Amino acid sequence: MSFRKAAMTLVAALGMAVMTPALVGAPASSATSVQVRTIYYDASQAQEFKAAVTEGAEAWNKAVPEIQLKPGTGSQATVKVLADDGWPRTYPGGFGRGTFYMGREAVNEGFYPPRIAAHELGHILGLPDNRNGRCDYLMSGHSSPTSCKTTAPHSTEAAQVKRNAGGGLVADSIRQAELAGTFVH
Ligand SMILES: [Zn+2]
Repeated sequence: MSFRKAAMTLVAALGMAVMTPALVGAPASSATSVQVRTIYYDASQAQEFKAAVTEGAEAWNKAVPEIQLKPGTGSQATVKVLADDGWPRTYPGGFGRGTFYMGREAVNEGFYPPRIAAHELGHILGLPDNRNGRCDYLMSGHSSPTSCKTTAPHSTEAAQVKRNAGGGLVADSIRQAELAGTFVH
């Protein structure tokens, strides 16, 4: 047997081994594909804040392509948006789940509704409050000035949400979000 023929025989044998049923069907390119998590929100009861909620959701979609917040209804929607006269607040129920209120009290004080929506969506995506007073952070909430109209998350906020979307959300982060899930805190 020539060396070449022996090598070909070996390749054929390896090829047969690779075709065993247990290995067939394993994804070949999972490491390179981007996993997108679609989260549906129902803003049908957000009253005068529907457009603000859309704007806040689109800011997140742009900053973190791995998650896509889309309008939905019924049981498809894991996020419910309501409106009342209190302070904006979120009752998170795990990553991509929960209820938040667009509160008119903050709007009456001059806070920008799309930024409020983006902030509360930040809680839905597992972020806690971060009262650093900075306009370039969404989670600064009430500690940033009312003149602040930024709806884009800070790069560190976007990075944390990306980790959360990938299943890297630590229980601690959820707990913090639940404890401090309001715009005012
Ligand atoms: Zn908050």
